[in-house]
Amino acid sequence: MTDAVFSGGRARPGTSGETFDVTNPAEGTVVESMTIASVADVEQAVAHAADAFGDWSRAAPAERSGALTRLAAILEGRAREYAEAETQQTGKPIRLTTEFDVPGSIDNVSFFAGAARHLEGSAAAEWDGTHTSMIRREPIGVVGSIAPWNYPLQMAMWKILPAIAAGNTIVLKPAEMTPITSLMLAADCSAAGIPDGVVNVVMGAGRSVGEALIGDPRVSMVSFTGSTPVGQRVMEIATRTVKRVHLELGGKAPFVVFDDADLEAAAHGAVAGALINTGQDCTAATRAYVQRPLYDAFVAATAELFDGVLLGDPMDPATDLGPLISVRQQQAVAGFVERARGYGATIAAGGVIPGGDLAKGAYYRPTLVTDVAQDSEIARDEIFGPVLVVLPFDTDEEGLALANDTIYGLAASAWTTDIFRGLRASREIQAGCVWINDHIPIVSEMPHGGYKQSGFGKDMSMYAFEEYTNVKHVSMDITGVARKPWHRTIFTGN
Ligand code: NAD
Repeated sequence: MTDAVFSGGRARPGTSGETFDVTNPAEGTVVESMTIASVADVEQAVAHAADAFGDWSRAAPAERSGALTRLAAILEGRAREYAEAETQQTGKPIRLTTEFDVPGSIDNVSFFAGAARHLEGSAAAEWDGTHTSMIRREPIGVVGSIAPWNYPLQMAMWKILPAIAAGNTIVLKPAEMTPITSLMLAADCSAAGIPDGVVNVVMGAGRSVGEALIGDPRVSMVSFTGSTPVGQRVMEIATRTVKRVHLELGGKAPFVVFDDADLEAAAHGAVAGALINTGQDCTAATRAYVQRPLYDAFVAATAELFDGVLLGDPMDPATDLGPLISVRQQQAVAGFVERARGYGATIAAGGVIPGGDLAKGAYYRPTLVTDVAQDSEIARDEIFGPVLVVLPFDTDEEGLALANDTIYGLAASAWTTDIFRGLRASREIQAGCVWINDHIPIVSEMPHGGYKQSGFGKDMSMYAFEEYTNVKHVSMDITGVARKPWHRTIFTGN
């Protein structure tokens, strides 16, 4: 039994009096029934985080680094348990959780264990000849973080690690549907010797618990990953107390295939890029723009590969694709495809809810959609399901303009064997990440974050680390002169 709150170094049930069933979306069965957190639980967790801040912010970098190194070792030892828990609460195939979510998360811990010892300011110098300046990078205080359900463990890591490595303390609210691995992680932070109150997790509803966390005046920074509309609400609440805001929001990633691309690479890349995590990935390829000479061949090759994807029990290592997170999400995805049929789309693959054994889960077949307009709903809105739309283009300029014709700007890819085209695409596409001849790979050393309405702020890398710090200028007089020459600008003093 997992408790919905971990705060001040202790797990306990929430006090809202409401229960929430964490459900396995492959089976429709209840994984855990939890009494969720109340606003009072948030207030207590923030108090724990505020109390812990003084000592943790002054802890030597080596101490913070050592605790994170121990955490990485604990997680290595429990990797299989984490992978299974993540699969059960999300329906992700066990191959994905064991080969991607869990090792990626552990690598993040190791990265930030190193980063903790590398906080740098710019060189000390006498810019005006009379004062020595130096830059201090200091932790901000209590960070309030809110995470989505699609990569629960990785999102918890991306929030917690840079924050605590830099000396902040944190209260994290995971998504209601997927809190289990975040709560396991909080307990393992304690086991690694991270002091009580540094890492706190409260699982509760967005409207109550989430908003209480963002609004709390003791919280100095809000870091949110989720949809763009909720991000707008988060930003609105945070303005009232002028908090630093870090937003990682929705996406609708373009996948631009030029006519000199390696077709086999592009088609395989489209399958992996569009279907990862059953398409519930903010960077997933969702709009393929294919230059006219390759268009028919790309659609045929990708449709064939989509049809060959194996849906099944997420615990079976042979399974390629698991269910969506919930029946509600399945219905939402099916709705997009049905409406597209209504306005004349061709469904080149999929477009169905599978029956048989899979009917008990929230499954949806990988779906390839063609013959839709750029401004159609299915090509414009975030679907968050295994659906790829393909549109043709003629000139390079047109392809790149179509890629940029979106409110989002999180990620994109361009496919070409011409280095100049690839470099031009990497410059022209307005997104926080542009892959050339691949789509999805991420590494702890490199930043992840959006342009435009995909938000601002970076996760992972030294860029994330720096975002969780304040920059302080310290200026020291080196003359020892009591009556400084510059004073005469204000008063002569005789
Ligand atoms: P969501 O916005 O519905 O919910 C995200 C979190 O916000 C949840 O924990 C939820 O409880 C909480 N929340 C909801 N209403 C709230 C409110 N009024 N105040 C405070 N918190 C509130 O998103 P989701 O459905 O969980 O996740 C999918 C979305 O997340 C997609 O749009 C996806 O693109 C995005 N996402 C973005 C990134 C990124 O790095 N940019 C990564 C993963 C997911």
